[in-house]
Amino acid sequence: MNLVLMGLPGAGKGTQAERIVDNYSIPHISTGDMFRAAIKDGTQLGLKAKSFMDQGNLVPDEVTIGIVRERLSKDDCEKGFLLDGFPRTVAQAEALEEILTDLGKSIDYVINIDVDENILMERLTGRRICKSCGSTYHLVFNPPANVGVCDKCGGELYQRADDNAETVGNRLEVNLEQSKPLLAFYETKGYLRNINGRQHIDNVFVDVQALLGDLNK
Ligand SMILES: [Zn+2]
Repeated sequence: MNLVLMGLPGAGKGTQAERIVDNYSIPHISTGDMFRAAIKDGTQLGLKAKSFMDQGNLVPDEVTIGIVRERLSKDDCEKGFLLDGFPRTVAQAEALEEILTDLGKSIDYVINIDVDENILMERLTGRRICKSCGSTYHLVFNPPANVGVCDKCGGELYQRADDNAETVGNRLEVNLEQSKPLLAFYETKGYLRNINGRQHIDNVFVDVQALLGDLNK
């Protein structure tokens, strides 16, 4: 099964990715891991990517796409793969189509974990962390017994600067704008499947399994 996983920050994409790769024994191919592996292996493209990153620059598409091509050509992708974090743009999605055609493969599904923006705001801004032991809480989903105090060590709870409403709102907006054309592209291709991400993570995965059931040949 050849899958692309999409979802906004806070949608629970990471959890579903873990469960999918565990259950269906396909490699989880995230952009970060792919870059790190190519750099560690010292491939030509890996070194190229590194030189851009070392200068604090974005890795250009041609390099990224080359690394994706190398990764998808490996033996462990024979049974399938789960792409996570790539593609990010329609241009990359078109390049991916070309790569897969060359490899005699095609995407089965683009799974989009769908959650409303206001729910994501609630999820992301509710996080609190203990200053002393690093335990994490959530004001709504996993609140401490006493407001602002860690259950485990009595330490003070704080909100990470990244988790304040303005930063989270901006991050969601940027991601939303970026994903819109990509979702439209995959809808047109007929690959897109929206999974309701507003339910418990276990039930989200039940829906994912229902979708993937008929692919498990
Ligand atoms: Zn603590």
